[in-house]
Amino acid sequence: MITVDEALDRIFTRIPTPLPESVPLSRAHKRVLLKPLLSKHTQPPFDASAMDGYAVRAAEIVPGQPLFLAGTSQAGARFTGMMQKGECVRIFTGAPMPIGADAVIMQEEATARGNQVSFAKVPRVGQSIRRRGFDFAEGKELLPAGQPLTPAKLNLAASANYAELSVARRPKLAILATGDELVAPGSEIGPDQIVASNSYGLIPLLAPYAEKIIDLGIVKDDKAALEKSLLAAFDYGVDVLITSGGASVGDRDYMQDVLRDLGVTLDFWKILMRPGKPLMFGTRGKTLVFGLPGNPISAFVTATVLVRPALRLMTGHTDPFWPFLGVPLAAPLAAGGERRHFVRGKLNRNEIGFLEVLPIAETDSNHSSSLAEADALIIQPENSPGIEAGEIVEIIPLNMLG
Ligand code: AMP
Ligand code: MG
Repeated sequence: MITVDEALDRIFTRIPTPLPESVPLSRAHKRVLLKPLLSKHTQPPFDASAMDGYAVRAAEIVPGQPLFLAGTSQAGARFTGMMQKGECVRIFTGAPMPIGADAVIMQEEATARGNQVSFAKVPRVGQSIRRRGFDFAEGKELLPAGQPLTPAKLNLAASANYAELSVARRPKLAILATGDELVAPGSEIGPDQIVASNSYGLIPLLAPYAEKIIDLGIVKDDKAALEKSLLAAFDYGVDVLITSGGASVGDRDYMQDVLRDLGVTLDFWKILMRPGKPLMFGTRGKTLVFGLPGNPISAFVTATVLVRPALRLMTGHTDPFWPFLGVPLAAPLAAGGERRHFVRGKLNRNEIGFLEVLPIAETDSNHSSSLAEADALIIQPENSPGIEAGEIVEIIPLNMLG
């Protein structure tokens, strides 16, 4: 058995270098740049007014003494003349500064009578002007590579005059559930049957990192049937294949045999983690294969801890583990064993409003309602002697993922 960190290392060495594709801005949300984005022009492209008011020459202003109103500069239609001595120009937010002006006085501090405008105060040179290039200059690195494009980053990319962005391609995934006892949600449940739930959590968990997820449905614990389904996924050319169930050592746990028969090179099949010990990872050509455990909590936690970081790297993210936070523990955790324990936890606010995490007592790997209640997984390290309330623990938030 290997540690979680060793398993992650081994998975990460198999991650192919992400390839670029061009997408329109409107489809680039949460996608990841592979190269820094450089601005194509200077912004603002001209000195512009930051206020609705009057463009003036600061040195000419004497409070109460009027200037002659020579014209107007609007956003999209500048004042074309040259502002002469003794003149001011009506100007609006975002409009180009007239030649000859060096300050803007906001309209609240001006009194206009016909063509005569007087001002309450002497402005400073440069007042209420946004200088050309104040936001960014042509060629400046605006956005780094390796981070997801947020709404504000997309706003910036648009203002830097990009209609399309080159982002990392996302992998094609296939997902399969296996077990003779499994029936689809909504079925009439016969004696001894269990509703197959795993794929319904895994698909939305991993969807932010996938171009497409093919759901291969439920396959019986039958070697031929499993081979047929998995081969179809390989032939289709999926980048990542994820199975749940049939991964342990029961008589009808065929996954390991089937994967080997199909030519998958298995790298490891057991990890020192709780929940989730039976976890297979291997490769077949370019396809990464994850054989997750069948127990719903084990499947979800292994996907969160191992598959999601792998998909983040495949999709160009530089930080595979984000978000990864430290918060105080609200109640003690008892001593742990040699396996790293991912303990379900609820995020609370303490009396002074700070975030803390309360461990959920239930640790069974088949107990779905406690996972649904959890907002985070608390990471209890290997051989932990127990953790006191108030100590900072690392958590993986569950519902800010993507
Ligand atoms: P296995 O890994 O096949 O031994 O399955 C372990 C446990 O998880 C068994 O109780 C299965 O019934 C259950 N299980 C397996 N696959 C699923 C699934 N897709 N959804 C819900 N439970 C499952
Ligand atoms: Mg089974």
